Amino acid sequence: MRRLAAAAAEAGADIREHSRVESLDELDADQVLIATDGYGRGLLPELDEAVWPARGQVVATDPLAERLFECPHYARQGFDYWQQLTDGRIVLGGFRDYSIMAELTDDEVTTPVIQEALTGFLRELVGYDPPIAYRWAGIFGLTQDMLPLVGRVPAHEGVWVAAGYSGHGNVLGLACGELVGAAILGREDSQLDLFEPARLLRLAG
Ligand SMILES: Cc1cc2nc3c(=O)[nH]c(=O)nc-3n(C[C@H](O)[C@H](O)[C@H](O)COP(=O)(O)OP(=O)(O)OC[C@H]3O[C@@H](n4cnc5c(N)ncnc54)[C@H](O)[C@@H]3O)c2cc1C
Repeated sequence: MRRLAAAAAEAGADIREHSRVESLDELDADQVLIATDGYGRGLLPELDEAVWPARGQVVATDPLAERLFECPHYARQGFDYWQQLTDGRIVLGGFRDYSIMAELTDDEVTTPVIQEALTGFLRELVGYDPPIAYRWAGIFGLTQDMLPLVGRVPAHEGVWVAAGYSGHGNVLGLACGELVGAAILGREDSQLDLFEPARLLRLAG
């Protein structure tokens, strides 16, 4: 990610960190792309209706001496996911369904119910209670059909969106970024038809 940012800056992009856009009206640009996944609430009411924030909680252990997992794992239809890093740490996330309504939030905090579920499952995986080095929460954007909204925002001249990857934006986000970037430059690809924002924004009415 840092290398990507460095390449963008080298190509002339002006990157501003810790600078939240409160309203699209404050932006002086012909074209605006809202690429906030599940974090962008408050920018456009129809996007708030179509992309719901969901919280994912994670724990990471201290480095473990034993190698238990050679590759990343997914369980329970992807609700739970873990891997052991090259330094031996286990990184485990999930159990959102243990408190599913409370986890529909963009409040980036950990909660006892999910953290206890994570540490309980970690004990099952490892066979003992490994020391936890880090606990955190992050937000992703969910849509009704679990596909992102990528393309023009209807009825807002020059406004585009690429958000709502429904927990699968690590690769999809980069691919959609390329597609929407090209579309903004006038090179529309039919692959974007699948992600047409109007399909869900119309429902939000
Ligand atoms: C716990 C967890 C586990 C996940 N696991 C996976 C996984 O295994 N595989 C997978 O593919 N995906 C996973 N995801 C989802 C993935 O992380 C996201 O889909 C991906 O990061 C989306 O990238 P993005 O650049 O579009 O948005 P983000 O990475 O969410 O970045 C959006 C940026 O917009 C900024 N922003 C928001 N609002 C404003 C504003 N008003 N003004 C200025 N800036 C703003 C935010 O600060 C943020 O930096 C996971 C997400 C979480 C939280």
